[in-house]
Amino acid sequence: MSAGWLLRVPCRGLDGFTVTEEEWNTGADLKRLCGPQLGTCGPCPSRAECIATVKPSQARFDGIAGGRLWCNGEVIDALDDVFEEELTEPKLRASCGTEAGAQDHKRHGERPCPSCRQAAREMDARRKEAKAREPKQLQLDFAST
Ligand code: SF4
Ligand SMILES: [Zn+2]
Repeated sequence: MSAGWLLRVPCRGLDGFTVTEEEWNTGADLKRLCGPQLGTCGPCPSRAECIATVKPSQARFDGIAGGRLWCNGEVIDALDDVFEEELTEPKLRASCGTEAGAQDHKRHGERPCPSCRQAAREMDARRKEAKAREPKQLQLDFAST
């Protein structure tokens, strides 16, 4: 595979853009270990190629690619000047207006669209309602003693 763009990227020869499984557990670990390298992507002319190659979302990638810090394929941190067109992965995604749609927006490093935000809010409200309806077993036990 020809990847001439790799010769011009600022991270060439540098370490710390990804981690081995043993090195981390949480997003906070990734931020501590890889976060300091995020600035390297600032002047990179190849963020889109980087994302197209790494396919961080599909690969559930952990580490830095394309000016973003990814955790299990979701963006957990990003440079201020990233833009959506850099996310070049083919979009196999849930329809908008669903909770899964809202999650897919997040996975692709986007802010959920209004209909997905609405769906996520409704789902959240339904969960809260269902939780409020759960029998209060502990209280009943106390009441019967
Ligand atoms: S965008 Fe990708 S290729 Fe460019 S510096 Fe960042 S990690 Fe390296
Ligand atoms: Zn949407």
